Amino acid sequence: ERAPLVNASNRKAFVVIDAGHGGNDPGAIGPSKTQEKEVTLAVARYLERYLMNDQIQVAMTRSEDLEILLQPRVDVANLRNADLFISIHANSMPPGNTHVRGIETYYTTPQSKGLADTIHKYVVKELGAPDRRVRSRGLFVTRRAKMPSILLEIGFLSSPAEEALLSNPAYQRKIAKAIRDGVQAYFAENPTDQNKY
Ligand code: ZN
Repeated sequence: ERAPLVNASNRKAFVVIDAGHGGNDPGAIGPSKTQEKEVTLAVARYLERYLMNDQIQVAMTRSEDLEILLQPRVDVANLRNADLFISIHANSMPPGNTHVRGIETYYTTPQSKGLADTIHKYVVKELGAPDRRVRSRGLFVTRRAKMPSILLEIGFLSSPAEEALLSNPAYQRKIAKAIRDGVQAYFAENPTDQNKY
């Protein structure tokens, strides 16, 4: 078993996982009716398990099919001084763009770029998915989170091929493992230090 990662306040490294959408907000819906809220929660739950196995402290913004506003999601991380905030979403294109697939990683604040680059690299590599790049954009959750924060688009539900993958538990676990590998690489390069933020 791994020794716990600790940060400057001498507690375990602490990651908040945000499963996008939920409840009355299904998010994107694929041609075979796969709902984004189901995929994001499944991947978030696998990631939670993997990080806890690594002795990392984890909080989920939701662990069930609930609609949660955006600010309370960020509050989970800000009020508890999390080290990282990782929001999981699935992408969608307008009708007629069913060929578009791949991974996009968004960040907003300067302290988040390194996290975005590292996680994106691992997810693209381990999934063998098209690299649609790391992008800077003023999204609500990544703008308001104080700590390094990213919003990861784990594939396109508008692509029938990627929808099939995203609804497959083995592929969901593969995504979670890739994110976990990215988190480990990030912590190895950036020992956690609350005082930085
Ligand atoms: Zn979404």
